[in-house]
Amino acid sequence: MKALVLEPDLRLAIRDIQLPETLGPKDLRIKIHSVGICGSDVHYYKHGSIGPFVVREPMVLGHEASGTVIELGAEVKNFKLGDRVCMEPGIPDAESEQSRTGYYNLDPAVRFWATPPIHGVLCPSVVHPASFTYKLPDNVSFAEGAMVEPLAVGMHAATKAVIRPGDVALVIGSGTIGMVTVLAALAGGCSKVILSDVQTEKLAIGKSLAPESVFTVNVASESLGDVVAAVTGGRGVDVVFECSGNGRAAASVFEHLAFAGRVVFVGMPAGPVSYDVVAAQLKEARVEHVFRYANVYAKALSLMGSGKIDLKPLITDSFGFEDSIEAFDFAAAMPPSSVKVQIVMGE
Ligand code: ZN
Repeated sequence: MKALVLEPDLRLAIRDIQLPETLGPKDLRIKIHSVGICGSDVHYYKHGSIGPFVVREPMVLGHEASGTVIELGAEVKNFKLGDRVCMEPGIPDAESEQSRTGYYNLDPAVRFWATPPIHGVLCPSVVHPASFTYKLPDNVSFAEGAMVEPLAVGMHAATKAVIRPGDVALVIGSGTIGMVTVLAALAGGCSKVILSDVQTEKLAIGKSLAPESVFTVNVASESLGDVVAAVTGGRGVDVVFECSGNGRAAASVFEHLAFAGRVVFVGMPAGPVSYDVVAAQLKEARVEHVFRYANVYAKALSLMGSGKIDLKPLITDSFGFEDSIEAFDFAAAMPPSSVKVQIVMGE
């Protein structure tokens, strides 16, 4: 079938490629509708690898997807033809110790779309286990359905933060993951979220997500400490979500934290980060780390269905499949007014 293929020499091509199409008894065949372009897709396109994962063979890109069920495996009971769905892109080995103990996102044998050597889903249809497929509520569009994957990261981070009602959070970094973390933190009970970045346009989009509850700081021109002090009456924030992956930002998270606060590292810094342990000890700070997500898709979709989370303002750009190479070049040099670029495969 025709797919968007990243060649080992890092050229992109829309071309025919042989993909696994066998439908197992517990699988669904899903016609792909919308696919979001993730930072990881762009990274493979531009650099050919992320950590130990290297593009050595042609690989189909894309892992943030929604679509329509077009065929049911013999044993599938809880779906019907025509169901509108989104899919978790990582399929773990159910027998692994990580899966058995509830940490299936940490299973080293996980087969994750568009992570070499596993193909992604920028193609007309895909076969996927029903157990990692979720129905979209009627009021959730395909475009929003393809945003559940990044939202799941923010949901997982908010879950790890153990937010208490009324907490104030600081989210560092206003890329897609920072934005969805703002939404997850508010949905999870935060009364206010301070969002910091250096791009004014992005911060304006962040503010628009919840104008009464989101306070933005452009750290290129304003003091983050002053804004934190003003919003929290000098107490500091209860939770810091580090979503920038910036080493300096990551090292400074304890400065703005209240006593007994929590820090969640979400962004991935390029190298090791060291921090002031004593500063963290004096506040008895708790530090958490997240890798992807586990067991949050259904909850994310119920928040979207109930209207408590609206992802539409984050979907800023959309391209047809025939223009998907252009879409990737756009995403690789994204203007500050853009957050999520999606490719629409068809109706
Ligand atoms: Zn992604």
